[in-house]
Amino acid sequence: MGSKIWLSPPHMGGAEERYVKEAFDTNWIAPLGPNVNGFENDISTYLGNNNYVAALISGTAALHIGLVLLGIKPGDEVLCQTMTFSATANAISYVGAIPVFVGSDAETWNMDPQKLEDTIKIRIALGKKPKAILPVHLYGMPAKMNEIIEISQRYDIPILEDAAESLGSSINKRKCGDFGDISVLSFNGNKIITTSGGGALVSKNEELVKHARFLSSQARDEAPHYQHTHIGYNYRLSNLCAGVGRGQMEVLEKRIEQRRYNYDFYKKNLQEIDGILFLDEPNGYFSNRWLTTILIDSKRTGFSREDLRLEFEKDNIESRPLWKPMHLQPIFKSHPFYGCDLSEFVFENGLCLPSGSNLTDEDLLRICNLVKLLSIKSK
Ligand SMILES: *Cc1c(COP(=O)(O)O)cnc(C)c1O
Repeated sequence: MGSKIWLSPPHMGGAEERYVKEAFDTNWIAPLGPNVNGFENDISTYLGNNNYVAALISGTAALHIGLVLLGIKPGDEVLCQTMTFSATANAISYVGAIPVFVGSDAETWNMDPQKLEDTIKIRIALGKKPKAILPVHLYGMPAKMNEIIEISQRYDIPILEDAAESLGSSINKRKCGDFGDISVLSFNGNKIITTSGGGALVSKNEELVKHARFLSSQARDEAPHYQHTHIGYNYRLSNLCAGVGRGQMEVLEKRIEQRRYNYDFYKKNLQEIDGILFLDEPNGYFSNRWLTTILIDSKRTGFSREDLRLEFEKDNIESRPLWKPMHLQPIFKSHPFYGCDLSEFVFENGLCLPSGSNLTDEDLLRICNLVKLLSIKSK
């Protein structure tokens, strides 16, 4: 058995320890400090377009605060991409609102703009105008944001953009994380860069981001005693974790190149196998290729995605089915869903290949050879 290959492990650049040591040396061991400010500035500079940033303990916390800032109340409906990680939909439940799930589009597997508009019309006709739109850029592939923004403006419904998987992705050079009225990033251990655990809330509205920082640090009014006019949260990122983030921001471009290299390597080596399909970028779209995903048409390959996953597992290689759509999850199955069976099809036949930025050519070859061998055996 070969050595373990993980799906998407952390990959430090080298400078992280220096920032963390600085925090120790100056005793800034708190959910505030120079690394937090520095990390926020780094992200804000990277995204450009006058975005302000609040660094928080997780992407999930950022989604929660984002919904609070948008004024989402118990019983409100929020339009959520069905094909996503559960954190997206869970955050809607945290504020007592109801996720209404929208199906996938074939080119990106993200929220289908046509189905989004159909859903809005139907919910309005039922007297339940949705209060927010929550698209996701799955595995780094940008959702059709230009179309979604147009719909958002036409119906006057704000966008909370879940860019947790897509730092570095863009559409015609406009970066993911810059499309929402409020946007969310994640720096969890498996993301393209990590703070071990962390997230960020992004917006061009400076007052909103200031308010996010206020709410995330227990909502203490300006008074020497503890006085509160809002419900507060303890969601600010620690100065230690932010130090890791500052080091990671220095290597982000390299990490994107490495992940894109993985995708190209897999495609070059596996596309000649009949029945293995890759998701190419639509014109003008740029994916950070956080995870390389393939679809396996088992009628043509002779093996299913589960056959391949188990074959990988036997050789100590971690791979993972795509996210199970939210409308198929036991916890959300009673919620409305508007879409076709595309997301279900993608879930049943899709596999995420190992995609770490520290994979070597040798690792990639080992993975590709295993797929080729299974393909020959299955003929
Ligand atoms: C990772 C992820 C989140 C949650 O981020 P955390 O930092 O892990 O809380 C939310 N949405 C999507 C799509 C994610 O992949």
